[in-house]
Amino acid sequence: MIQPNRTGPVFVFAEQEDGSLSDVTLELCSKARELADTLGVKMAAVLPGWNVRELSYRLIAHGADQVYCIHDTELEHYRTLPYARAVCAMITRHEPQIMIFGATPIGRDLAPRVASAMKAGLTADCTDLQIGDYEDKKTKTVHKNLLLQIRPAFGGNIIATIINHDRWPQMATVREGVMRMGEGDPQRSGEIIEEKVAFEPADLAVRIVERHREERKVNLKGARTIVAGGGGVGSKDNFKHIHELAGAIAGAVGASRAAVDGGFIGKDHQVGQTGTTVRPALYIACGISGAVQHRAGMEESAKIIAINWDKEAPIFSVAHYGIVGDLNKVIPMMIKAIKERA
Ligand code: FAD
Repeated sequence: MIQPNRTGPVFVFAEQEDGSLSDVTLELCSKARELADTLGVKMAAVLPGWNVRELSYRLIAHGADQVYCIHDTELEHYRTLPYARAVCAMITRHEPQIMIFGATPIGRDLAPRVASAMKAGLTADCTDLQIGDYEDKKTKTVHKNLLLQIRPAFGGNIIATIINHDRWPQMATVREGVMRMGEGDPQRSGEIIEEKVAFEPADLAVRIVERHREERKVNLKGARTIVAGGGGVGSKDNFKHIHELAGAIAGAVGASRAAVDGGFIGKDHQVGQTGTTVRPALYIACGISGAVQHRAGMEESAKIIAINWDKEAPIFSVAHYGIVGDLNKVIPMMIKAIKERA
């Protein structure tokens, strides 16, 4: 177990695939920069891979003071064991007080492995990270400047703040789109540090024989306008209203979990706590009640229009404009009005 090093840096795992950094990495850099400034320490990115040194400049532009670049052919494509070895080596060498990962398939595989090897705790799927103090009421000890790992718990019904005062580094994963990505400043300067890691034969037991990569078909995160349908749409057939309205305003199609569970549309379209977090310029929620788990993924949209026939529906508490009515009547009227104005 690493003893708390109160002056250690804040680390971000820089996730890349085929030489492209994931968006969540840059989102985390912005957040980590903020945490490091609050603590008055450095922020560093850990970048394992092969021929990926160029990515360091983007990490620096987004707030890293240092990039630990672990350049090795064994790290060309993600494999759990060599990546875990590389990240653990960086933690042991540089003793960060905080390490954060994106809650992507890779981050969700890697972070628990690293936490277990370092005998540290790990909070998954945080929706916010802050620095704060914690007083142990029993021992009257005050632990200063801990990482407050904030996330929904008990099915989203409470927001829990989780701390880790005796196991370091303090580790967390954060879902894509939850933190805001800064603009990045290409003029920022930072240090690129080449690191070497010695692998053991057991780390290389898994060999990649072939890789198949399927691109995401739905890009909700990048959409400026989203029309989302919920359980109130009623059927897969009726979901055509949602597609038509989205088509009329060149928007993407989103959905609540009830719509996905009802088989109206695929899971890739789900918005919310267990779907995608979105922040479009306009979000039109049709037949969506506005359960807390759905709101968690869309309430930061710049403008929200809700269509629901129940005027008490919770979605109206986050909507900027509300239409109380039957979506089967309202949506065709909207499409007609949009087409007439085009
Ligand atoms: P419903 O609850 O069925 O509501 C339908 C709404 O449509 C009602 O408000 C009704 O008044 C209205 N309506 C019905 N017919 C019409 C009509 N003709 N015209 C106008 N309005 C109409 N949910 C998510 O969405 N995303 C998540 O990521 C997510 N993650 C979850 C994670 C956990 C751990 C749990 C426990 C739940 C999660 N849920 C999630 C589920 C969530 O709690 C709700 O059950 C879900 O969001 C409900 O979807 P809905 O509002 O579309 O459907």
